Amino acid sequence: MQGVPDEDGPDEDGATRKMRFLFGLRSQGVIAPRVLEAMERIDRADFVRGIFAQRAQEDVPLPIGCGQTISQPSVVGLMTQALDPQPRDKVLEVGTGSGYQAAILSLLCRRVYTVDRHRTLVREAESVFRNLGLVNLTAIVGDGSFGLPEQAPFDRILVTAAAEDPPGPLLAQLKTGGIMVLPVGQSDTVQSLIKVTRLQSGYDYEELRPVRFVPLVEGLAAD
Ligand code: SAH
Repeated sequence: MQGVPDEDGPDEDGATRKMRFLFGLRSQGVIAPRVLEAMERIDRADFVRGIFAQRAQEDVPLPIGCGQTISQPSVVGLMTQALDPQPRDKVLEVGTGSGYQAAILSLLCRRVYTVDRHRTLVREAESVFRNLGLVNLTAIVGDGSFGLPEQAPFDRILVTAAAEDPPGPLLAQLKTGGIMVLPVGQSDTVQSLIKVTRLQSGYDYEELRPVRFVPLVEGLAAD
């Protein structure tokens, strides 16, 4: 395989980069075998355009269209691991962005719905999903803070944009025993990643780690 020159050295080929990528995930605490396997199969370079595609294997967030970003792979891995998706699960992702996170979820669950307020991002993600043959994955244009009532309830909900508090409709659309992982906090200050478990009698909240995400914005975007 021909190596693409990058800052790690001109001779590093695709296989070596992938190994370093997986090693990097493990060193950041992504250890669940199913999650690592899914992240090995989905190539982040398919979800990043232009000059940034060369940096797809680096553990950094990268710009995508519409002023948004694709998250750092280690954060994607840790969120997926915290979500603990099961093979029979129906999952909602809020914040399709590039579609990378949704594609990983699609390998781990029965059915994935992903919603974004930017039509352009949803269209681009859909075309990547089609090219990869991911058929259990549907991308929808909408304001994800209202969830997706027509497909609710969900076994798992993953939100990849930060709200001040967990949106009520999302809490309501979670099955009993279900798990939601989301960043909360004010957009320009430190946010926390939290894991919400719906119990028979209410909700359990666990704080996982500090994170930084773009804000969850109300309404549809113009593009
Ligand atoms: N999960 C993405 C990264 C998400 S970036 C990936 O794997 O690439 C956050 C995304 O949340 C952005 O695309 C933004 O448009 C979207 N977003 C923000 N507020 C939203 C809302 N209310 N409903 C749906 N999507 C929203």
